[in-house]
Amino acid sequence: MSLSSRFSCLDDHDPEALAVEQARAYIHSQLRPRLACERVALRSALGRVLARDLIAPCNVPAADNSAMDGYALRHADLDAAGETSLRLVGSAMAGRPYAGVVAAGDCVRIMTGAVPPSGCDTVVMQEVVRVDGERIVIPGGQRRGQNIRLAGEDLALGRPALTAGRLIWPAELGLMASLGFAEVSVFRRLRVAFFSTGDELCSIGTPLADGEVYDSNRYTLFGMLSRMGCELLDLGVVADDPPLLADVFRQAAAAADVVISSGGVSVGEADFVRPLMAELGEVLFWKIAMKPGRPLAFGRIGGAAGNADGGAWLFGLPGNPVAVMVTFYQFVREALYRLMGADPPPVVPLLPAVCEHSLKKLPGRSEYQRGILSQTAGGWRVRPAAAQGSGILRSMVEANCFIVLGHERGPVAAGDVVEVQLFDGLI
Ligand code: AMP
Ligand code: MG
Repeated sequence: MSLSSRFSCLDDHDPEALAVEQARAYIHSQLRPRLACERVALRSALGRVLARDLIAPCNVPAADNSAMDGYALRHADLDAAGETSLRLVGSAMAGRPYAGVVAAGDCVRIMTGAVPPSGCDTVVMQEVVRVDGERIVIPGGQRRGQNIRLAGEDLALGRPALTAGRLIWPAELGLMASLGFAEVSVFRRLRVAFFSTGDELCSIGTPLADGEVYDSNRYTLFGMLSRMGCELLDLGVVADDPPLLADVFRQAAAAADVVISSGGVSVGEADFVRPLMAELGEVLFWKIAMKPGRPLAFGRIGGAAGNADGGAWLFGLPGNPVAVMVTFYQFVREALYRLMGADPPPVVPLLPAVCEHSLKKLPGRSEYQRGILSQTAGGWRVRPAAAQGSGILRSMVEANCFIVLGHERGPVAAGDVVEVQLFDGLI
């Protein structure tokens, strides 16, 4: 390999840069969730975080009931080896129990969800019996207690059904409804203020002047934050003007739990943003060993009394549109879930897939290429989206996953297994 091509591979390789895992571990070691809680109607709890353990106030199911449509009977009446003919004396429906007494040699027609009449300890599914007028012929080999769902087998009275810190998704909503909860305690929504910085940025709805670009970062951030159920404070576009930026940071920190900015943290601009942020609070500027998304600022700013812990967390994301999304998903998302009170915060799994193409990669930094994952007869395969520039947002739209190439990983040959993170569920 010639020296110039070596350098072109190495041009943004920096041995001083912090590994993704170190930055992530540092961020998480700093965060303390301290949100107050509030009671909300059950449906409003979707996407929120449970603030208190939920103790089951009843058994689910409340009573034993049939798991099948069939016949309820007394197991002791059955002939262990051969058939038994029983007299049909009535029926039990879900919500309409059989009121009579089932005597020896009798059985009752029973439907799924119906409570077995007293004395009946077994249900035989209707498909295996023979109906002979008023009598039901049961084949041999039935097990005592079969096809009966026991009271409390789903959720037992007095036991924790869900614990504090649980993110509430459809299954949790249903489970809480099955216990009869009409209201639950959840943490209040995390307030996140966000804005874009850059003299070149133009807001949508205004024609572009020479040299301007539309501000897209506020829209990807709006989307990512909305999907997480945060309360949003959109502070618009702020020019590269230190006094103005200082005002906006102060205002944001006073009003929100978290402040997210994009742009202005790369080396060129950091000169004035850095002392500004240092003045406002404790902020670390990092060069992260990752692609895309090298520069990142993290820290606390402000000391607004209105916030439970007297300030706000800051994430200063890079300006490039793809880098914003990558750094959000690799650092901010999990941090926000932690601040929302989610315990443990949900992790995005890394799943193996066969890479169809060779990929250039040097050990010493993590890469998040945009990939297109597809299912083939031979399993899941992934190929990189055509354009991988950190300014090319189209790559995020074409792709359906990140191809995650870890810090130590070297080049990928076609046919190698790589790890992917699905956008579905993430985005
Ligand atoms: P910066 O990190 O401020 O140096 O920005 C890096 C690149 O991202 C520049 O090309 C910017 O024009 C672009 N950029 C920064 N902020 C935004 C934004 N909000 N929307 C679209 N592009 C942006
Ligand atoms: Mg800029």
